[in-house]
Amino acid sequence: MKEIVSSFVDKWQGKADIDDDDFWGECINTYRSIEQYRLTLPWADVPETRAQAMDFLHCPLPCGDCCRFGLEAITYEDAQRIVSTGLSWKEFGQICTLLQHKGKDMTWAIKGTPCPFLEDNLCSIYDHRPQVCRDYPIIRPTLVGDSNRLAISIRCDPGAGIAREMIRLHLMMAGGRLTPNLMVCGDKL
Ligand code: SF4
Ligand code: SF4
Repeated sequence: MKEIVSSFVDKWQGKADIDDDDFWGECINTYRSIEQYRLTLPWADVPETRAQAMDFLHCPLPCGDCCRFGLEAITYEDAQRIVSTGLSWKEFGQICTLLQHKGKDMTWAIKGTPCPFLEDNLCSIYDHRPQVCRDYPIIRPTLVGDSNRLAISIRCDPGAGIAREMIRLHLMMAGGRLTPNLMVCGDKL
């Protein structure tokens, strides 16, 4: 895996350009081949930046593929919201696996894919869906472990599109140049 990335980086060293579709296409394919399908970008993960990033999300409808990727990181608050739709905790336990439990600090994952709440390609608990679904394709900082970097899932093209537009915005605002590992360097570097 590391070899694939390093040959990509070597190929585009000094000529990475966010407006070059060949670079971007190869870039996304390369980084998608990395297990976690995510890019971390040079933006702090704060509400304003998240809102800005979500403005760049244009999902084709109906898609719903993110409901087929496997759902993790359901919190206690999420679980309460889901149960309030009329599910019993027993039924919730039949759908979700408890991953972590420390007092009310609990995390569940949906068992299997697609998500059992997906019906006719629509979320049947839309108003009560977990936060992680509301945020997607932005990934919660606690799942990435670095709140100074905005993490985006690039599994789908619209998610990758957010990453591209946020990097473009960063280059416009802060200047500098892009490196193939999607870092932005000052001109002197
Ligand atoms: S975020 Fe991506 S996977 Fe989810 S609905 Fe939009 S296009 Fe589909
Ligand atoms: S809860 Fe709803 S939005 Fe979230 S994965 Fe399931 S169907 Fe999709």
